[in-house]
Order: sequence, then structure tokens, then C-alpha cells
Amino acid sequence: MLDTVLIWIDKNRGGWLEDLKPWLRLASVSADPAHQADLTAAADWAMHYMRAAGLEPEWIPTARHPCILARTPGNRHKPDAPHILFYGHYDVQPADPLDKWITPPFEPTIRDGKIFARGASDDKGQVFCHLAALLAWKQIAGELPVRMTVLLEGEEEIGSMSLEPVITQYADELKTARALIVSDSNQLAPGVPTLTTGFRGMVYYQVEVAGAAEDLHSGVYGGAVANPANALVGMLGALHDVHGRVTIPGFYDEVVMPEASILQQWRQLPFDEAELIRRLGVSELFGEKGFSTLERRWCRPTLDINGLTSGYQGPGAKTVLPGAASAKVSMRLVPHQDPLRIAAAFETYLGSLKPAGVRLKLQRLNASPAVLTPTDSPAVAAAAEALEIGFGQKPVFTREGGTVPVVSSFKKLLDVDSVLIGFGLPDDNLHAPNEKFDLASLYGGMRTAAALYDRLGRILSNGRGG
Ligand SMILES: [Zn+2]
Repeated sequence: MLDTVLIWIDKNRGGWLEDLKPWLRLASVSADPAHQADLTAAADWAMHYMRAAGLEPEWIPTARHPCILARTPGNRHKPDAPHILFYGHYDVQPADPLDKWITPPFEPTIRDGKIFARGASDDKGQVFCHLAALLAWKQIAGELPVRMTVLLEGEEEIGSMSLEPVITQYADELKTARALIVSDSNQLAPGVPTLTTGFRGMVYYQVEVAGAAEDLHSGVYGGAVANPANALVGMLGALHDVHGRVTIPGFYDEVVMPEASILQQWRQLPFDEAELIRRLGVSELFGEKGFSTLERRWCRPTLDINGLTSGYQGPGAKTVLPGAASAKVSMRLVPHQDPLRIAAAFETYLGSLKPAGVRLKLQRLNASPAVLTPTDSPAVAAAAEALEIGFGQKPVFTREGGTVPVVSSFKKLLDVDSVLIGFGLPDDNLHAPNEKFDLASLYGGMRTAAALYDRLGRILSNGRGG
């Protein structure tokens, strides 16, 4: 049956593009209240498309943008079919700066084998791969190989504040899912299907150092009063040693390196360091001594200043002794590091570095743990087979340096393991002008999704695993 579904998907390529375009035309920018109607329309589009695919969608209002929860009715899947949960988001990042777009962000345009539009890759195009696959299964087979629940949200780009309450509200129902499928990430390179098996967590701080009640004259008072800018850069500068290692006591205590066999696999991945240097415009790469670039990004924790503000910033010279200085500091965490323990260690150490004459105020803005998904679960085996069917190549197993907080939420609230099966590419321009999704990714992604549900249906209904 899968073969027939795949043939039908391949035969209707032009039709799929026409299906997807109206969704991409909706400017569902969750950060901008002016786009409220577009968000409603984008959620509505998803409701209609899922109905066509045989699902029964429910509109869940939230404080801001609705969630959609869609289920396969009992007569549309095999009686013993395993329950699978799919998550995606229909909101998009703002499109500005608009003048940097070659074609308008909300007028999907095909060029060079790619579809250009805001949301083409993140995440409408990737979600569409799954919805189209479900539609194809319904058209060809009349029923799905799995019992499907699709959960779409409209607040991913602004922090998913309604998602945990919705998951909690429906937890009894969602908990029976054997796997969570998420397609909101990248392949390592074109033609290299990829399963992401983990990503880093994060702790984020606002750091403020205060001295005098206002800016002072640096000639009159310089040398007599502590300078908060000097104090802040001194403290922050002490957080790394010359080898790029973070100096916070205990920072690395819980870090566990991946097994040698995984590190060996990473060394064989098609990763081009020279290309990265060119693309980023840096003179050379830099990071913690003794680790490769992929290790530094995927399995080593980091600390970075994300913003730094103090004193006079206008043209020319102005001799002030600033009254305050502030910084934004984030730490990317790896599996087994406890965000709250790291946060406490950061606070204690920074406090100990504070010189006399200034006050230090720390505000924690964020704390989420890293996530490691099992690499040997039946769901991952199904996904690996599906990627090979979809893209004609065996997948590689990678990790992601970034943070995907929603996956942590699902793990925490439902204890379900996720399969991160991204179809995007590193040059998709997510969050930037000229976002695109390769048509090869779109069609390969639809084929993969169709095969994934077939394999999940077989593998999970036979065995015990999950
Ligand atoms: Zn996304």
C-alpha cells in the first residue's frame, strides 16, 4: 500500500505546491498584534486541510493564538494501530527587513527549485509534508496506518506560552502516544537525511551592575569611584580561561561525553569547516580547546555574552563614568547538566567576582534542560527507514546546538520520547530575509512522512517497545 501512496505523492507534485501556497500567503506573525486575523486564518486553513485528510480537528482558544488538536476518528485507522503524536507550529517570525526580500515574504515564489516565503521552512512547509502525507494515505488507503493526533500551535516564535497549559489539559489523552514526531529542524546538508538526537538546554541571565546614582564626569571622579562598566567587563572577562573553558566552579561536573562510537560517527559526517568559515565571514573558528567544532556545538556547554550596554554610545568622545552597566548572558547546557544548579553556580561565582563599590543584580530569564532522545528506540528505527525511503539515503544521527523548549515540555508533561525529523537545510534563512524551502526537501519530506506512518504502524504494533 505504501508504494501506491508514494506513487500518488510523486504524481501530484504541482498540486501539492498549489495546496501549500495559500497557507504561506497568510502573514501569521505571532509577535505582531496587527496580524491577529492572519493567525486566525492560518489556524483555520490547517483545520480545513486536516479535515480533508480525514482528521477531526478541535479549535482550542488560548489567551493569544489558538491551538488545533486533530485526531483520526476510530473508523479511519486500523483497530490495533499505535497512537502517534505530531507537533508543529503555524506562526512565523516577522518578515522585516522587507527591502532585503527578493520577492515579497507572503507571496510564495518558486525560483531555482526552491519555494521562497516566510514560513516556507519554519515551520509551515515542514508541517505540510506531514499533512499532505496523511491526506495521501486517506485518498489511497481510506485509513491511516497509525492512530494520529496532530497538535499545532500559533505561539512557537514568541515562547509557546499556551502550549504547556494545553498539553496539561489534554494530558490523559496525549499520554497514550507512543512517540512524538517533530519536523522543525534541519538536515545536515543537501542530500543528507538527518535524525536529530539531542539539543542543548539554556540558562539566560540579565546582569546589572550599578554604581553612582547617575553618570559622573570621568575626569572629576575617575579613580575615586568604582566604574560599573569596568567592574562588569572584569567580572565577565573572568568567566573563561585562555583555552575557552568556562571557569565557573562545578560548571562541567555533570557533563557526560557521548560514547566513543558516536564521536567516531560525527567525525565521518559531511561537515565542511572551510565552508563554515567562509559563510560566517570569520578568520578562523574558536572554541574550547581539545574539542572539534561539532563537539563544541553539540555536546559541550558554553557561556556567551548576548548583549552589553553601558555609558556613552554616541559619536565622538564623551568623558563619562557610567552609573550602571548591564549584560545579557546565556549558557548553553548539555544533557545531564541541571539548569538550576548551573544557575546557582553562576550566581555564586559572579557574586564572588564583584569588586567593591558596585552593586550586582541578577535576574534569571530562562532555564531549560538539554534533551537527549534515544537513538535505539523502535520509533527512531521507523524514522531511519522512512528517511531512506523518502530521500534514497541512510540518515545520519546528529545533535543540535540550539534549544527546542517545546520538546522538553512534552517530555516533562507526557514522558513521551520525540523523533526530531527535520527536512530543512542550514541555508534556509530561518528568521532572516528570503526564507526558502527546497522543493527536494518538500517532496522528500512528504515521501518520508508517508513512509514514517507506515513504518510506525508496523514496528510499534508488533513489538512492545516505544
Ligand atoms: Zn519553528
